[in-house]
Amino acid sequence: MALEVTNKESRLHRLELLKKLQSIDNKTHKLDKQKKTILSHLEKKNAQIEEATTLLTTKHEDSTGFQKEMDRKHLDLKCIEEQIGKSREKLLQIKNNKEYSAFLSEIGGREADKSLLEDEILSMMSELEGMTAEEKDLAKEEERQKKELAELRVTAEGELAVIDKNIEETRAEWGETAQQVDKEALDQYKRLIQKDGQAVVEVSAQACGGCFMQITPQTLNLLLRKQEIILCQNCDKILYLQEG
Ligand SMILES: [Zn+2]
Repeated sequence: MALEVTNKESRLHRLELLKKLQSIDNKTHKLDKQKKTILSHLEKKNAQIEEATTLLTTKHEDSTGFQKEMDRKHLDLKCIEEQIGKSREKLLQIKNNKEYSAFLSEIGGREADKSLLEDEILSMMSELEGMTAEEKDLAKEEERQKKELAELRVTAEGELAVIDKNIEETRAEWGETAQQVDKEALDQYKRLIQKDGQAVVEVSAQACGGCFMQITPQTLNLLLRKQEIILCQNCDKILYLQEG
């Protein structure tokens, strides 16, 4: 399969132009990839921060809830202490022996409740201390990640600016080169590029560099004659032989 050309001189020139277009497209593809990598780094960092923030918020809510629960226990303790105090005052006024011992055991019960509550509060206090320390660590981690993102952003912005400038330049170069290629060849080129980014491929060890199928002796002959643009019979890509 070969594309017809009217002007003999333009044939080789056309192949060179197509090769140039391919090399520009390769460059653009590389630049696009670099850009995507940088953007995905930023995205990843952002996601990490979001995760850290969510974790920190949850921890904070947990410890706030825990603190409230502890405050309630403190109030309960105060209440019990007041009750015990009042009971002790009343105890002094009781003359009846039976009533006295009943009251005494009631106070004993309250004292036991108080002691339990005090133990509970003490253990909660130490637990809260742990929670607060953990929260502090998480806040530090979040801060560290945010700082890292800020630094990453500065670097990324610089890199992206350079890449965008390069992309702009390659785009202009592509346009200039494409203008010199006839419509038929350019359309074929564009069709192939859209498929998998490869339109012009080198023939190496007598195989197409695109699909790796062996090329026929006739195709090789045509390529050696350098008279026209030769397409791979299997994948339609534009073939060329490396000079020398
Ligand atoms: Zn092929």
